[in-house]
Amino acid sequence: MIVELKPNTAKQRQDRLVEWLEELGLGVHVFEGESKTVLGLIGDTSKVDMELISSLEIVERVKKVNETFKCCNRRFHPDDTVIDVRGVKIGGGNFCVMAGPCSVESEEQIMTIARAVKKAGTHMLRGGAFKPRTSPYDFQGLKAEGIRLLIEARKETGLPIVTEIMSIADLPLFEDVDVLQVGARNMQNFDLLKVLGQTDKPILLKRGLANTLKELLMSAEYIMASGNERVILCERGIRTYSDYMRNTLDLSAVPMLHELSHLPVVVDPSHATGIARMVPPMTLAAVAAGCDGLEIEVHNDPKNALSDSAQQLTPEEFEKLSKRILVVRDAVT
Ligand code: PEP
Ligand code: MN
Repeated sequence: MIVELKPNTAKQRQDRLVEWLEELGLGVHVFEGESKTVLGLIGDTSKVDMELISSLEIVERVKKVNETFKCCNRRFHPDDTVIDVRGVKIGGGNFCVMAGPCSVESEEQIMTIARAVKKAGTHMLRGGAFKPRTSPYDFQGLKAEGIRLLIEARKETGLPIVTEIMSIADLPLFEDVDVLQVGARNMQNFDLLKVLGQTDKPILLKRGLANTLKELLMSAEYIMASGNERVILCERGIRTYSDYMRNTLDLSAVPMLHELSHLPVVVDPSHATGIARMVPPMTLAAVAAGCDGLEIEVHNDPKNALSDSAQQLTPEEFEKLSKRILVVRDAVT
């Protein structure tokens, strides 16, 4: 349920209403936007007399929220959420490109790529240190050493770093990481989501391979209900019967997620297509669809990459694409 307050309601009267609602055992999310203040109620709202609340002098209107996701619901928070990562903003008109290799492989590799993506104008550096591979015999990532190398790359380039966490047990290693990524395979690892909800780190939450948008939003809700409101949603392609592509990029997810939620929405065209030459057209389509950012895999030697070699762009290809991203953004905003 949401309670919309009349403009210019005195803070004291607002606080008294919030206190009373909390005494009824409800959680109250207060959104103070530029044009209106909205109280989002969480819990058993059957105890609340909607008519009584509607009749209060300070209340504009009361609406039922049927969706099971609350904290990430646009109705609880009408304005776009803007997430600030070391001064780099994403959401609410702030566009953010995260680029870098699928896996961190060596100091030379990550430094070379970090310099190249920085030069192309990227805003954050991505790189996998813990890799969720389909085969246990494939490269599993440099783990703690990979995180150390990302931190080195940040020192030189100033780019905030994004890297995937697969297990709660590894959390202490991520203390100096800027954005923690939850990969597609862990989107419904609820224990992990709850623990990440107790941190103050921005979380890049990727849609599962076979998950609906509602399920993605419910996973964001796990993080937010545990206290961490800084969640970035990521569409990275889902399994369908498309046979020539690694996945199907569900671009309609972008405007739909924007409608349903106030959280920023990023698109990953690399895992969505699995083919480097498909990445530029799908990147531009994602920008045209209104995404708040992109996550793109870039490698200095894609052919010899230790993971996802078919889908990574060279720094030259990425630089060219970065220029075209700006043109499309200009055209659609
Ligand atoms: C990744 O971004 O490194 C990754 C493994 O992606 P996904 O979880 O979307 O497969
Ligand atoms: Mn990858």
